[in-house]
Amino acid sequence: MIGAFAIYFREGGADDVDKTVLEMVCRKAAIAIEQRNLADQLAHQARYDTITGLPNRVMLDDRLQQAVARSRRDELPVGLLLIDIDRFKVVNDTLGHKAGDLLLLRIAQRLGVALREADTLSRIEGDEFAVVLPGMGDSESAARVAGRLLELLKEPFMIEGRELFIGASVGISIFPQDGSDSVTLQKTADTALHMAKSAGRGQFRMFAPEMNAAALERLQMETSLRRALESKELAASYQPKVDREGKMVGVEALLRWTHPTLGPVSPAKFIPLAEECGLIVPMGIWVLNEACHQAKAWQKAGLRPVPVAVNVSMLQFAQPNFVNFVAETLRQHELDARWLELEVTESLLLHDAAATAAKLEAIRDLGVAVALDDFGTGYSSLAYLQKLPIDTLKIDRSFVSAIQEQTTVIRAILSLAHSLGMKVIAEGVETVAQREFLLSIGCNEMQGYFFSKPVAPDEIEELMRADQPLGGALLPWAKSA
Ligand code: C2E
Ligand code: MG
Ligand code: MG
Repeated sequence: MIGAFAIYFREGGADDVDKTVLEMVCRKAAIAIEQRNLADQLAHQARYDTITGLPNRVMLDDRLQQAVARSRRDELPVGLLLIDIDRFKVVNDTLGHKAGDLLLLRIAQRLGVALREADTLSRIEGDEFAVVLPGMGDSESAARVAGRLLELLKEPFMIEGRELFIGASVGISIFPQDGSDSVTLQKTADTALHMAKSAGRGQFRMFAPEMNAAALERLQMETSLRRALESKELAASYQPKVDREGKMVGVEALLRWTHPTLGPVSPAKFIPLAEECGLIVPMGIWVLNEACHQAKAWQKAGLRPVPVAVNVSMLQFAQPNFVNFVAETLRQHELDARWLELEVTESLLLHDAAATAAKLEAIRDLGVAVALDDFGTGYSSLAYLQKLPIDTLKIDRSFVSAIQEQTTVIRAILSLAHSLGMKVIAEGVETVAQREFLLSIGCNEMQGYFFSKPVAPDEIEELMRADQPLGGALLPWAKSA
C-alpha cells in the first residue's frame, strides 16, 4: 500500500457504481505515485553516490559550472581538488567489498568535516573524490586545504575492528588560470593528480605553472618532511673531528633525509625549510636523542669514548625548557655530559645577548661543551664573542676553501679565540695544503672530507677500531704547535 483514499458522505453511501469508479481512480493514482517515486529515485541516483550519499560526478559538474559562473562575477578563484585514495584497492581485495564500502563512507565523513559549507565534496568514481572550493580568498588556499585533507587521511581508520592506514594523492587546478571551463579544470586537475601520484604517496600537486613554484615546492617539502619525521626517513651520519695528529677526537652528528622517491635531500635544503615551519624543533629532539643513543652504544661496544657534537638551531635553543630537555636526554641515555657537545651559530647573538649567555652558561653547568659553528659567516660581533661562554670556535668552511686569500683573517680569528681561551677547529678541510697551513698557524682540530666524509655509525666504529691517524702521515714539524 502506498496510500489511502477516503471519501466521506453526508447522507446515504456509495453504490456499486461509485465503488468501481473509486477503485479505478485509486489504481490510477497509485500508478502515478509509484512512477513519481521511481523518477525521483532515479534522479537522485543520477546525482548522488549510493555508498557515501555524496554528490556524484554529474552533480560535481553542475556545482563546478555554477562556481565558475559565480567567479566570473565576483572574481574570487575557484579550486578543484581531485583526491585519489592510495591503498584502497588493497583494502577492497583483502577485506571484501563491505569493508571497502564502509571505508569509503568513513573517508567521506572525515573529509566532509574539514570543508566549508560552500564547498562540494563528491565521490566521482571508485576511490576518487573531488572537492570544489568556490570563492577562495587566494589561490594558495587550495594547497592549504589539500595539505589539511592529506593530514586527515593519514590518521588510521577503524573498520571491522581493524586499524587501516591509507593515504591519498591530490591534484589541484584553479579557475581561472588553469582552465576557463569546468571540463578543462577537471583535465588539468587530473594531470596534477598524476604528477602527485608519480611523486610518491601522500602528496599534492598544483597544476598552475604560473603559481609561485618555490612556494609550492616548499609546501610540498613541508608535507614530506612531516612524514619523514614519522616514518623513519631520517638518519644521522657522523663526521670525525681530528686533532693535530689526525687522531679522531670527536664526531659531529649530521642529519640525513632520504625521501622515498627523490632520494637523499641535502640538509642545506631541508634544514632552512624545517626552521621556517618550526619542524626543526621536533627534528632537533630526534637528533639529540639519536646522537646520545649512538654515543652510548659506541661506549657499550667498548670503543674509546669521544664527544658527539649535535647542531642546535636557534629556534630549538629558544625553547624555554631547552636546558632541561638536554639534561633529561642525557639522563635517559645514561650518557655522561662530557660526551656531548652542542654546536650553535652566531644567529643566537641576534637575540638578547645576556639571556643567550645565561642559557649557554646553564648548558655548560651541565657539563656539556658549546661550540660556535660557521664562525665568520654571520654577524661576527667580536665584542659579543668575548662575553659568550663558548668552548670552541669552528672556522667556517668558506675561509678554509679560500685559504690563500684569507690567511690574515684566519690568523686573526685564531689568535683572538686563543686569547679568549677557546679552542679552534677548522671546518671543510679538503686538501693537504689546507691542513699544513692550519697546522702551521696553530689550529687545534680539523674536520673535513680530507679526513673523512660524514659516515654511518658502523663506519665510525671501524675507524675507531683501526685507530689510525686520519688523512695520512704528517710532516714531523707539524706535530707540535
Ligand atoms: P655544519 O654544522 O657546519 O656541518 C658541516 C657541513 O659541512 C656538513 O654538511 C658536512 O657534510 C659538510 N662538510 C664537512 N666537511 C666538508 C668538506 O671537506 N667539504 C665540503 N664541501 N663540505 C664538508 P651537511 O651535512 O650538508 O649539513 C649542512 C648544515 O646543515 C650543517 O652545517 C648544519 O648547519 C645543518 N645541519 C645538519 N644536521 C643538522 C641537525 O641535526 N640539526 C640542525 N639544527 N642543523 C643541522
Ligand atoms: Mg655543525
Ligand atoms: Mg659549520
